[in-house]
Amino acid sequence: MGFSSFNFDPKISAGIRALGYSKPTPIQLQSMAPILQGRDVMGLAQTGTGKTAAFALPILQRLLTGSRNVTRALILAPTRELADQIQEAFRELGRQTGLRSITVYGGVGAGPQVSGLRSGVEIVVACPGRLLDHLQHGVFKPSRLDVLVVDEADRMFDMGFLPDIRKILKQLPAHRQTLLFSATMPDDIRKLAHEILRQPVTVQVDHTVPLATVSHALYPVVEHLKAALLTKLLEQAGGSTVLIFTRTKHRAKRLAQRLHDQGLDATSLQGNLSQNRRKAALEGFRDGKFNIMVATDIASRGIDISQITHVINFDVPDTTEAYTHRIGRTGRAAKTGDAFTFVTHDDEAMVRDIERALGARIERRKIEGFDYAARQPAVSAPAARQSHHGAHAPRQPGPVESGDKSAGGVHGRFSRFRFRKRRR
Ligand code: AMP
Repeated sequence: MGFSSFNFDPKISAGIRALGYSKPTPIQLQSMAPILQGRDVMGLAQTGTGKTAAFALPILQRLLTGSRNVTRALILAPTRELADQIQEAFRELGRQTGLRSITVYGGVGAGPQVSGLRSGVEIVVACPGRLLDHLQHGVFKPSRLDVLVVDEADRMFDMGFLPDIRKILKQLPAHRQTLLFSATMPDDIRKLAHEILRQPVTVQVDHTVPLATVSHALYPVVEHLKAALLTKLLEQAGGSTVLIFTRTKHRAKRLAQRLHDQGLDATSLQGNLSQNRRKAALEGFRDGKFNIMVATDIASRGIDISQITHVINFDVPDTTEAYTHRIGRTGRAAKTGDAFTFVTHDDEAMVRDIERALGARIERRKIEGFDYAARQPAVSAPAARQSHHGAHAPRQPGPVESGDKSAGGVHGRFSRFRFRKRRR
């Protein structure tokens, strides 16, 4: 079934064509018809499945008729980066519709947001905190709202946004269409969905299983050799765009600095940066100025950079959901990707949980020629100085986890990776 069966207005079909979408993705096939009918929808889908267009296209279609110069669609998103991305999708898909959209979030000046909201921009994509400010100051007036989307609801909950969302919900017109998307369905989200959705249609696309386009591997290593192993992996790797995750902001910053000092085009994205620097890092990574980004979980949800070929978990994530989200940054839009995870002895329980969630054992790999038994250097390496969880002393060398099936080399696209000299 193609997009034509949805009878989108030619102005919207032009947007679909401009983005090169030839046929709807499974989440779009399942959810666009009920959304076009005005039904509430509970969408269980992770990013990378095309869920943004699944709600953006029917919303644009709905807004083509009826009033202009009043805010009629509100999309709530957990991070500024995701908000930017959603607004970009509305802008591109709706280029010919004349419908206007803005983002509203903290960390940037409120001026443009205030004038946009006062002018009655039709589509508002917002993070909850700043939107609540505008609501409380009477700048955002939602009385004519037709559609509310709560995107990445589970992440909203993790980030503690639920109280703000509840305050916002109280001030929205009760008679509206509500769409709620979440990659996972913990009890709190189920409860929220029950409260805010009216007879919803539930659509579900592989909500707990990471994308099939991603292949996974574990690299057992002792803590103090992680940075050296990463260098070796990057030397040998064949991808061109690598996203590396660390557990803490500090570790992200230090590791990016270390890679930068090694002459690599590396940047970092973590919550200690100002919004402008976060934006510059992300844009630099998207544009190819940097081919390596070291990030905390701030980047694990929603970020859509289709050229990411490798995700490397320098530190194991805290939850299986975080693993799914992190590795969902690669293998996007039907491209393939590799997800590599460094694991120490302490990570065994989490590895078991991840394997259980994936329903498969993950291959253990070793890099040929790497000295896995090297002792901790007297002058500690940057990664070793970054203590585990930022609290404990660096660990002592220990034996590498056994059971490595594939000792000997790295695979496929890995061998083509080049060290690129940093542009100065
Ligand atoms: P999302 O899950 O919304 O973050 O979308 C993931 C990626 O898929 C984005 O780069 C979209 O532009 C792309 N995408 C969305 N719908 C389609 C489609 N029907 N065909 C091809 N790519 C799509």
